[in-house]
Amino acid sequence: MTSSQLLPVVEDFVQLCTDGFLQGWHECNGGNLSYRLRPEEVEQLRKSLGKSATSSEWTPLGLKADNLAGQYLITTAAGCHFQNVAKHPLNTTGIVELNEQGDAYRIVWGFADGAAPTSELPSHILNHSVRTEVTGGKSRVIYHAHPKNTIALTALLPLDARIITRSLWKVMTECILVFPQGVGVLPWMMPGSIEIARASSKLFRIHDAVIWAHHGLFVAGDDFESAFGLMHSIEKAADIYLRARSANKGSDDFPNTISDDDLRAIADRFGLAVNEAFLDDNCLI
Ligand SMILES: [Zn+2]
Repeated sequence: MTSSQLLPVVEDFVQLCTDGFLQGWHECNGGNLSYRLRPEEVEQLRKSLGKSATSSEWTPLGLKADNLAGQYLITTAAGCHFQNVAKHPLNTTGIVELNEQGDAYRIVWGFADGAAPTSELPSHILNHSVRTEVTGGKSRVIYHAHPKNTIALTALLPLDARIITRSLWKVMTECILVFPQGVGVLPWMMPGSIEIARASSKLFRIHDAVIWAHHGLFVAGDDFESAFGLMHSIEKAADIYLRARSANKGSDDFPNTISDDDLRAIADRFGLAVNEAFLDDNCLI
């Protein structure tokens, strides 16, 4: 049985991996992706696997996510190259089931030939847990990539969420529309650690995108399209910021940017719940 016969959503999952690779966001084995299955997809999965279903032993997560108890996630495999996901989905992706306590997982499909879920599984689980809670269950995708301009920003700007968000909002109109709550920012931390997972999930309570300094970007979305679009928008705005700054002899004192009043006007026009703490109080009196 092919992965798409098993569950059509696997095809969308694989497509995002290919799209991300083609953007240049996944050198070597960089990046990881996970998707929280809908109840009807879990039903279909159980039916498709039928009697051939095999499950591995429970593996402790080292954390507890009560609201994900009993849920299923598709994730990329540890060390997999996104370039190869479409060619070898059975080796580079798999589906895990969380136990009834939300503190352990077992493999129910994929991860062939000894593959295992991504080393960033703790971050994915905790981020899913928080985004599931704050979006009332709408959020389903967590995506991590290494987009170069976003990483370059962290070598240049103070590692401050307000400063980095404003730098992006003010150079491209689309930004405040796509991430009105701004981006969270973490200093360099050890990848794959429980500490970076906990710190990220704290920021995901407010933001749906979190930059890891000198490493990459995590985003959350209701679906693959919105997660990819968020990653793409942040990376494109970072590119524009760096180009403008480079053309401005390295100075961030740009002749023209979008004003705070105009950012507020966009938020009003489109009814966005903008992060007011990231806007300057421009009193026109
Ligand atoms: Zn990474």
